[in-house]
Amino acid sequence: MVHLQEVKATIDSGVELVAVSKFHPVEVLREAYEEGQRIFGESRVQELQAKQAALPPDIQWHFIGHLQPNKVKYIAPYISLIHAVDSFKLLAEIEKQAAKVHRTIPCLLQLHIAQEETKFGFTPAECTAMLQAGEWRELKHVQLAGLMCMASNTDNEQQVEAEFAQAHAYFNEIKSRFFADDPAFCQRSWGMSHDYRLAMKHGATLVRIGSAIFGEREY
Ligand SMILES: *Cc1c(COP(=O)(O)O)cnc(C)c1O
Repeated sequence: MVHLQEVKATIDSGVELVAVSKFHPVEVLREAYEEGQRIFGESRVQELQAKQAALPPDIQWHFIGHLQPNKVKYIAPYISLIHAVDSFKLLAEIEKQAAKVHRTIPCLLQLHIAQEETKFGFTPAECTAMLQAGEWRELKHVQLAGLMCMASNTDNEQQVEAEFAQAHAYFNEIKSRFFADDPAFCQRSWGMSHDYRLAMKHGATLVRIGSAIFGEREY
């Protein structure tokens, strides 16, 4: 049973819903597809490959997990958005594989703002340094389309809101500094099942929602 409509009813206008379908079988994705969902998020390349092959071609597949550079080649032909770019090395590999298939792949830079040590991503200082270095401007098959982040996994809503607010402020800063003339740099991917309402208060344009739609995952 897919709770797509209930979740959709709570999404602000102007915010896009990425249905995070990782670990759920193809039949469940098809059910959401038949209810009109077209954007699905997956976090493992092998699983994504199998689902992409089995489901209709008008689905927009978003890669939301940590992506190893050596796996980019498998998804380059069809991926619509890569959410969690966390190194220049990965960006350079996406450039190489996108060029091979004559595509330009939209990518989000993953910002590390949560308290947890284990989360991937650029700190704001690292992200600014990478943008300042400017090599990304040479990557003609990569389109930097915005930022992605995950807030700390905590019940402390004030902390979660402070982190999303920080990400939003940082987005505005780099937007004006590096992307003022680039309308494509416009996406803010933050908010998951437990915190997307807070994320929408702080500028989210894409929310990545799994368990609230599909139920708990069995790993
Ligand atoms: C799994 C996952 C989600 C969705 O999480 P839910 O709590 O099930 O909504 C969102 N973003 C990323 C990066 C994920 O890995």
